[in-house]
Amino acid sequence: MTTRYQRILLKLSGEALMGEDNYGINQIVIRRIVAEIEEVNKLGVEIAIVVGGGNIFRGMKSANGDMERVTADYMGMLATVMNALALQDAMKRVGLIPRIQSALRIDQVVEPYIRGKAMRYLKEGWIVIFAAGTGNPFFTTDTAAALRGMEMDVDIVLKATKVDGIYSSDPQVNPQATRFSKLSFDEAISKNLQVMDATALTLCRDQKLPLNVFSIFKPGALKRIIIGEDEGTFVMI
Ligand code: UDP
Repeated sequence: MTTRYQRILLKLSGEALMGEDNYGINQIVIRRIVAEIEEVNKLGVEIAIVVGGGNIFRGMKSANGDMERVTADYMGMLATVMNALALQDAMKRVGLIPRIQSALRIDQVVEPYIRGKAMRYLKEGWIVIFAAGTGNPFFTTDTAAALRGMEMDVDIVLKATKVDGIYSSDPQVNPQATRFSKLSFDEAISKNLQVMDATALTLCRDQKLPLNVFSIFKPGALKRIIIGEDEGTFVMI
């Protein structure tokens, strides 16, 4: 089967990993997500993943006067390492070959981010999971997704969320909200649509790296995007 994209960066938010739970990692949900990833791996697509941490710890929210922001952000980045380990475990169970690389050094647990090595893993057909975001406080894993996507020279960033694309307003709050099928980066930034932070959108725009926002809970959606079908919202220059 010919695919539209040969190398992708999949951004999995922490929220996606917790499913309907209020907190933490839901193993059933992880298994379902891994099955979607496996489908795409079978097509020979090279897959890099940036995993979020919001299901465990979110720096900005926790900082709120009670804790130094930088400390809270380091905790948030460490939360992404936990998610990466859970994802790696679930991938190994189905015979995929995952490799985690962390932007913060925790050498006994996962290897550090080394671009050349990550590229080699991708060419082997292994799945690279990037943990600890950018390694810097005051950033998000969305920005890490844009950054690693550019560094890995991927064809597209796929942002997996709980809703099936970008809406004119929050569809869970406003039933009249409508979904955009296509959008420019400038529109997404100026409308402040809360889909991705402006830093991430600006990076993608400046490097002409397209973005597709879709629901990871819609069975087969990831594969459909890969083979060139319309799913969710496509954001381009
Ligand atoms: N974080 C950070 N720098 C980064 C990436 C993440 O400081 O480069 C921290 C930040 O506190 C953030 C938390 O890690 O709130 C979890 O990441 P994020 O909120 O992006 O996760 P997601 O929303 O995707 O679950």
